[in-house]
Amino acid sequence: MALLKDKMLYGRTIETVKQESVNAEKSRIEPERSFRDDDRALFKRAPDDVVQVADSIMHNLVGAKKINIAAIDKRVILVAHDLTPAETSQINLERVMGFITDRGGKASHTGIIARSLEIPAVVGLKNATSSIRNDDLIIVDGKTGTVIIHPAEATLVQYEERKIDYEEYKAVITRESKAPAESADGVRLAVMGNIELPEEVFALLNYGGDGIGLYRTEFQYFNRADFPGEDELFDKYKDVVEVMHPKPVTIRTLDINADKALTNHFSSEETNPALGLRGIRYCLKKPQVFKDQLRAILRAAAFGNVRILFPMISTYYEIRDANRMLDEAAESLEKEGLPYNRDIEIGAMIEVPSAVIMADVIAENVDFFSIGTNDLIQYALAIDRGNEQVAHLFQPLDPAIIRMLKHVADVAREKNIKVFMCGEMAGTPHHIPLLLGIGMDELSMNPQTIPDIKRVIRSLNVEDTRSFIKEVLKQTTAKSTFELIRDTYGSILSEYIYTEG
Ligand code: PEP
Ligand code: MG
Repeated sequence: MALLKDKMLYGRTIETVKQESVNAEKSRIEPERSFRDDDRALFKRAPDDVVQVADSIMHNLVGAKKINIAAIDKRVILVAHDLTPAETSQINLERVMGFITDRGGKASHTGIIARSLEIPAVVGLKNATSSIRNDDLIIVDGKTGTVIIHPAEATLVQYEERKIDYEEYKAVITRESKAPAESADGVRLAVMGNIELPEEVFALLNYGGDGIGLYRTEFQYFNRADFPGEDELFDKYKDVVEVMHPKPVTIRTLDINADKALTNHFSSEETNPALGLRGIRYCLKKPQVFKDQLRAILRAAAFGNVRILFPMISTYYEIRDANRMLDEAAESLEKEGLPYNRDIEIGAMIEVPSAVIMADVIAENVDFFSIGTNDLIQYALAIDRGNEQVAHLFQPLDPAIIRMLKHVADVAREKNIKVFMCGEMAGTPHHIPLLLGIGMDELSMNPQTIPDIKRVIRSLNVEDTRSFIKEVLKQTTAKSTFELIRDTYGSILSEYIYTEG
């Protein structure tokens, strides 16, 4: 209500209506763009609130009904300006056949969830909401990132055929995927799956996953006003651990905020949420929330093969404090006489450049590294992973990234710990020769990518990739690195290579 009365908000709208002779709907304020410097104080204070108020007024002006994604009751393709990870996880797969957004990039959480739900999606189209109307007939080709509005009859038929071919291909490679991934020269590599929700374990096993390399636990905290308690968390983790047994389940502790802000919580206003109170920083500031989760994980570990993984480690203090809290959680369980298992492997996500540089120090405090390239690329190259304006600059093959990966893998070997990768880079077929050459011990990805990645590993010779990496390290641009991969491995990877980016 206070914002509604703010002169700057309605004053600017009236000014636009008068000066540009447009109606109120057309003059919708885009707070990020249209505020003058002297007006920005308000937007800085409460950006989400300003956008929300503007959206509500807009809804009323155009007579639109507020859409509850979970309640959609017919088969649709969702077209939205943006979808948060919390909203995306509400999608009913029987009803929502695909989605398209103006915002987002390939490594945005919305894009990641779309892939794990196996729902065709194209994100970051910039003008989808203004170009597509209700009831338009559309084709969403998530594989190539194409959207066709009002397709001709022949195009429809062609896409129906492509869909059938794709499903047949998937059925074949899913069958072969149950076998281990062993390279042509006999090196076996664990190919694991990333999950967001416990229900995904069945798909993961079906696709031949050798375990869970990343269980993103934050989704149990979304769409509710309170925090889940220890018993509730324990029940969910135990289910996953028991179904997967004896395969490993890597449970990552809460990585909320930045683009995974809690819904229905009054989050503090942060000017730069990606650099703010996120991941381990949040947990160390909310010890009770963290304790509940740590106890739940240790209790679930009594039922199978569990590893614990701490996100967003950027200094030695964080890994030290996280380990201390894990010890305290174990001691409290011991005192209470509850069954638990403290003898589990501990890992640090390597996804902040400082952690790469301090990898030798962090290695002394963990059993494994798991490289999160989605954030590592974002923080190393200063590219917002969810911003479609800079999506073309989000380059996993940038030599700066490759050198970082190599450094982390070398440190892991020196310190005798394992090095895994669970960012989207690990699930991209044409990156595999490079990742094998660098010496990754395990790769984790969206479950439906596992069959493709296993197939690629089987066709490669690990010894060759070790010489190949020497050439890769001489490259000075992402483009030449990509061309080198294409020229060296093009025949093996032909069905997977589109363009980089
Ligand atoms: C990453 O940053 O690469 C990662 C795997 O974690 P998330 O995508 O959940 O931030
Ligand atoms: Mg991350």
